[in-house]
Amino acid sequence: MNKTIETYYSELQLLLDGKHLLPSEIPFPKTIMNEYISHELIEATPGIIKQGKNYRCSRCNNETPRLFTSFPCALCQKECYYCRKCIMMGRVSTCTPLLRWKGPPVHNPHQDHSTYLTWNGTLSPGQKVASNAGVEGVRMKSDLTIWAVCGAGKTEVLFAAIDEALMSKLRVCIATPRTDVVLELAPRLKKVFPTIPVAVLYGGSKDRNLYAPLTISTTHQLLRFYQAFDLMIVDEVDAFPYSYDSSLQWAVKKSVRPQATTLYLTATPSETWQMECKYGKRNYVKIPARFHRQPLPIPQFTWCGNWRKQLEKMKIPLVVENWIQKRLNQNKQMLLFLPHIELMEKALPIFQKLHPKVEAVHAEDPNRKAKVEKMRSMEVPLLLTTTILERGVTFPNIDVAVLGAEDDIFTESALVQIAGRVGRSAEFPNGHITFFHYGRTKAMIRALVHIDDMNKEAAKKGMIDQ
Ligand SMILES: [Zn+2]
Ligand SMILES: [Zn+2]
Repeated sequence: MNKTIETYYSELQLLLDGKHLLPSEIPFPKTIMNEYISHELIEATPGIIKQGKNYRCSRCNNETPRLFTSFPCALCQKECYYCRKCIMMGRVSTCTPLLRWKGPPVHNPHQDHSTYLTWNGTLSPGQKVASNAGVEGVRMKSDLTIWAVCGAGKTEVLFAAIDEALMSKLRVCIATPRTDVVLELAPRLKKVFPTIPVAVLYGGSKDRNLYAPLTISTTHQLLRFYQAFDLMIVDEVDAFPYSYDSSLQWAVKKSVRPQATTLYLTATPSETWQMECKYGKRNYVKIPARFHRQPLPIPQFTWCGNWRKQLEKMKIPLVVENWIQKRLNQNKQMLLFLPHIELMEKALPIFQKLHPKVEAVHAEDPNRKAKVEKMRSMEVPLLLTTTILERGVTFPNIDVAVLGAEDDIFTESALVQIAGRVGRSAEFPNGHITFFHYGRTKAMIRALVHIDDMNKEAAKKGMIDQ
């Protein structure tokens, strides 16, 4: 080994093993990189590949012609094309390579242990079944879908499978579409695997170059990886944007090793996915009951007339007003889902007439975090929201309603997720979920049947207390 190679070897190995990085993301001079490339320790592949008349981005797999733009390139002095789809992660252009480590892989630095897990909580019967299936999946290298109701306690279910993988010196990743979830999972996993370095990745994260046996990442950040992980856990496979954006699905595929095992987590699999489970095309395990062994609240359908017209006349439909008033009197917090932002913002003042501290929140709301915090600290009695809060949030003791449940935006899975906001904590395991509507839809009925089926299955298996 020559001197240059020796000096930078371990740093570059840790930086580039399992990665797919742009030269601009690598803090070493070009001459050093070229030397590594000539010694075949680093592989440089074209960032943009020309296919006939079209282009394809090797990082995000974009092939849509209108998402490539040409520009006079200062680097190659030619007219270069770049990928617009993944531009926010740094520009991939015709003359920029993607670099990855090709030499011997990083030897996992952690010590041999009989277990890395320091959690001594108890799993519910449903969690136990799924946890065992996860361990089995890791051992047998077989993919598994964990179909767990909202509030099943899916994070704890993963602990044993992750531990099994770490003990076998496998590299593990948990990927989720949302940054909020990454930030929520990270401290919990660090706590139960205290001796394992954990890389926490989202846009702007300081861990971006940290090599770790356990990585928690947004699906988006996986675009910077290449054949890195042996165990991939994909959270909320049915959720936006993962289920809609094929480049994120591709990012997951690209970031795992060829023989990797993938665990998929979902509370509301798509219809196709449900069918694939049913007909044996997917290995799956179901957790039909919540960790606190109480049944899922069943949605109540309440007709509320032409609510849209009423709101436009600055009136709240009477049944809805009564529903709110009753809970204001009881001091019980509420979430009310509405189908559209404009309508919600316009209607906010009439809801504030019932109580001045009513707030409204939506995806692009700059004060979103602060409003959710106010809800948590019980300052807000009623929070109006779009589907942005359908997942991931837990308020311990609330009732939930949907106004305009017949709207197309409220799919079966959205409605099941919304209903799943109620009764999540062991202290307050019950609550009301009401679908106010102006005509029932198939989605509403499917959501009801879905929840009811889960409760029946849980009861049959003795997973809920009667
Ligand atoms: Zn791209
Ligand atoms: Zn160029």
